Amino acid sequence: LVALRDVHLRFGANEVLKGIDLVVRRGEAVSIIGPSGSGKSTILRCITGLLRPQRGAIRVGDTQVDALRSEAELIALRKRVGFVFQQYNLFPHLTVLENLVIAPTRVAGRDRAAAQREARALLDKVRLSHKEAAYPGELSGGQQQRVAIARALAMRPELMLFDEVTSALDPETVGEVLTVIRDLVQEGLTCVLVTHEMRFAEEISDQVYFTEAGVIVEHGPAPRIFGQPESERTRAFLRRAL
Ligand code: ATP
Ligand code: MG
Repeated sequence: LVALRDVHLRFGANEVLKGIDLVVRRGEAVSIIGPSGSGKSTILRCITGLLRPQRGAIRVGDTQVDALRSEAELIALRKRVGFVFQQYNLFPHLTVLENLVIAPTRVAGRDRAAAQREARALLDKVRLSHKEAAYPGELSGGQQQRVAIARALAMRPELMLFDEVTSALDPETVGEVLTVIRDLVQEGLTCVLVTHEMRFAEEISDQVYFTEAGVIVEHGPAPRIFGQPESERTRAFLRRAL
């Protein structure tokens, strides 16, 4: 579903991605782990077309992302790719339910009653049905993050990207967000996760990519990367992170 081939990206003189190759098959959960500043978020932003690499190819389904030129094409891509990151960025002046209904009706042009029905089903899935009339400011961090996930799902994405979605949360609420992601992975939604939760990455990932300083040091099935990493760099990172 996703393929990056030899992706290079510079910010000025700073080469942040130095030839990234990454593949995500339909239905897979892929985790990207690695030290701060290694380029993990940059990879996700390239997949959504938010950043354009100077070199290399990025494909999402049939879309050649690196070749997209018009704003309309980028908007069409972003309808298919859900993106959730550390800050929830919910609309503070809208209720939880309205946060989920707005994009499907305004952007995707869906019928309002149908969008509401779907929004309620998604709130049930993230276990927040009882909060549909609340405003984001009345929710805990973990609850807001679950609303953010449900809001992304409301666009029926074929791919979900999660960038350190639990990093800003209290330890007690991390688990409830991870549970929601685990459910989505088990349902077969294609997911790419950047996470510092190593145990979680090990548990749910089909493939794990270890990045350092803009390169993929190694990748493979979770049991191998966590159990028998080939690279000394991966071993050193995991020793510190686990
Ligand atoms: P973290 O774990 O801290 O989130 P990361 O692996 O996600 O790190 P990136 O955010 O991808 O790292 O950043 C990779 C490098 O690119 C860093 O050196 C960062 O300073 C640089 N960088 C990221 N965004 C920009 C930008 N908009 N302009 C200039 N440099 C940037
Ligand atoms: Mg990051």
